[in-house]
Amino acid sequence: MPSSEATRLRLRVTGAVQGVGFRPFVHSLADRYALAGFVRNDSHGVLMEVEGARVDDFVAALRREPPPLARIDTLECETITPLRDAKFSIEPSRDGKTQTCITPDAAICDDCLNDLFDPKSRFYLYPFVNCTHCGPRYTLTRRLPYDRAQTSMAPFAMCDDCARDYADPTNRRFHAQPIACPKCGPQLAYLGPRDASLKARGPGAAMDREPSGSHHAALIRQIVTTLQSGGIVALKGIGGFHLLCDARDETAVAELRRRKGRDAKPFAVMLADVAAATRAGLFGEDELRLLQSRARPIVIVEKREEFVPSVAPGLSRIGLILPYAPLHHLLFHAAADLALVATSANPSGEPLIVDDEEAREKLASIADLIVGHDRAIVARADDSIATIIAGAPALLRRARGFVPEPIALANDGPDILALGAHLKSTITVTRGREAFVSTHIGSLDDRATIDFYRETIARMLDILDVKPERVACDLHPDLASTRYAEETGLPVIRVQHHAAHIAAIAAEHKIEGPILGAALDGYGYGDDGGAWGGELMLVDEGHWRRLGHIAPLPLPGGDRAAREPWRMGVAALAAQDRCGDVFDRFPGMELAGKVAMLASAPNVARTTSLGRMFDAAAALLGVRLVQQYEGQAAMELEALCQSPRALANGYSIENDILDLTKLFAALLKPGLSASQGAELFHGTLIEALAQWLRAAAQARGQTRVALGGGCMMNKILAEGLVSRLRDFGIEALLARAAPTNDGGLSLGQAHIARMRKV
Ligand code: ZN
Ligand code: ZN
Ligand code: FE
Repeated sequence: MPSSEATRLRLRVTGAVQGVGFRPFVHSLADRYALAGFVRNDSHGVLMEVEGARVDDFVAALRREPPPLARIDTLECETITPLRDAKFSIEPSRDGKTQTCITPDAAICDDCLNDLFDPKSRFYLYPFVNCTHCGPRYTLTRRLPYDRAQTSMAPFAMCDDCARDYADPTNRRFHAQPIACPKCGPQLAYLGPRDASLKARGPGAAMDREPSGSHHAALIRQIVTTLQSGGIVALKGIGGFHLLCDARDETAVAELRRRKGRDAKPFAVMLADVAAATRAGLFGEDELRLLQSRARPIVIVEKREEFVPSVAPGLSRIGLILPYAPLHHLLFHAAADLALVATSANPSGEPLIVDDEEAREKLASIADLIVGHDRAIVARADDSIATIIAGAPALLRRARGFVPEPIALANDGPDILALGAHLKSTITVTRGREAFVSTHIGSLDDRATIDFYRETIARMLDILDVKPERVACDLHPDLASTRYAEETGLPVIRVQHHAAHIAAIAAEHKIEGPILGAALDGYGYGDDGGAWGGELMLVDEGHWRRLGHIAPLPLPGGDRAAREPWRMGVAALAAQDRCGDVFDRFPGMELAGKVAMLASAPNVARTTSLGRMFDAAAALLGVRLVQQYEGQAAMELEALCQSPRALANGYSIENDILDLTKLFAALLKPGLSASQGAELFHGTLIEALAQWLRAAAQARGQTRVALGGGCMMNKILAEGLVSRLRDFGIEALLARAAPTNDGGLSLGQAHIARMRKV
């Protein structure tokens, strides 16, 4: 076609294209290629028409250089009759049924960072600077469409400068709903302590609407001084309050553990920049990319700096995170060498605190200084946790920066609400061919968490505008999530825990047809009501079949056995008829004799859980007898393992049952050190599981297997298995977008419920 002739195209783009600066981007491209036409948001995404000679260049650039927070899922294009309009314009939105979603929160962009530290910028040192390419979204949006009036920015009237930027299509803050500046936007607020003597030191007494620059600067100084003198600071961030203290001050970290009532669970550490992070941890390229990504998760890496013993006791790995809110950057600007323990402010396992008043009340006994602000957090979101496993990222906790981004599914299907199980709860809503996994909610143990759970369900259904056809829940009859499912009045599909672990992987990898998988896990309610957790399954067409499992060990004391690995040690001894050894092995345990009797009783409950086998190994090796947090024994055992070593004939396989008795016997060998034992356990387990899966796959003509469950958070085990299976020509699929632990269950439940023919 001759280049002088004008072509008109109508383009429809779907994906994350609203509230991310897409229309001004389109406008600037139209200018660049001298095109006329229009662009507007609608309920499907963005619709545009462009007319001129260089429409092809326009389309290529549209695909090539979308704005940082945009994600183009589909781009439909048709040629239509030219209208010969004179210019290009951005048209107002048209409403309709929602097919879009809110974008996740994003770390401050480089341009805003420049504004933050540019004395000439009107955003200089302003803790709430943002633009269409960065800043909070999910955490401050009440409902769609994404407009300022629907966000927690609604009470802040824009000043003239902000209003001008907001209305200017050439400005980076064009239609940036949370736009704010020191003149018109949110302000930091001193919230405590109420103690007058402490307050006198700070600017708290005279806060409010003083010239805000100096007010902010004084508060930042006070935060930094408090941290540097060993104090604990509660600071409101993007998705909730953090508790912060100096990660190189043992007294401060130990005091934080004491006040928060948190025994040994590892803390994450926030560092100023990549240079500081790479001094503290061992980063490969993939880890670095993850660390600096817009989602800005906590990244688990090998420790290089120990900080102090109380940060991550007994572990070889550590979670590190970079600043993501302007406020964090201001802290490190004041003291670049800070290393900060940054942990969610959630007293006694309850949900993260987001509200200033609540913080004042509940954090007064924990923090020496509490700083909030008057921009409300509408939806709480913890820091996400990610790691690199077998060369690719895997999310261990999916929250800020990732929610509510959808996971694409293979096919269309009915809209489902899936409710998860109990620990590390999430819910999933599917709409069309997308699955929306909610933010990490937590264990449904207390009223406050269950309230947050219900709130999250309502919110997800509302922002997605979904009326589910079915609900999916766990098989366990006594969970709060199961009861919720029954209350909905919708058809309920109950999904076995480990089938859901495997199905979650099938969902995100878009597997159609049958999938063979292993769920290597802590605890899940079995088809027979038993304590399952080492399961070989085939999942297909919304159904599952248990093909095999790990040969069970006694579970003496039920739930107590999960908290007290020494009981599993006793169980492993009992399984070898070596109950007489329990007094030598566990001399400090008064109940050793009783537990041995219990473990040898013919009617004792048994478990196939690989998590409990890890506990047994850790106990037999003297690594950990009583756990302070879930997974501690297994994590400490992993930390002791340098290079896994397989014991020849350390296992047996018959009829898809994997028996590890010989491995446990080998761990009892006199003179075996804890680290030698850890290496033997990991190495033999990898070989045993790989052979087990190979036999099962070959028997069923499968060349790939899904590996799910909480034990797959163990990097040595996961990478060892992937690599060994590759030797056998079998591709191992891992959970990546949704956690391999129980945080991914809701996705798997949704997958099964939507495939089920009813
Ligand atoms: Zn920005
Ligand atoms: Zn302003
Ligand atoms: Fe599980």
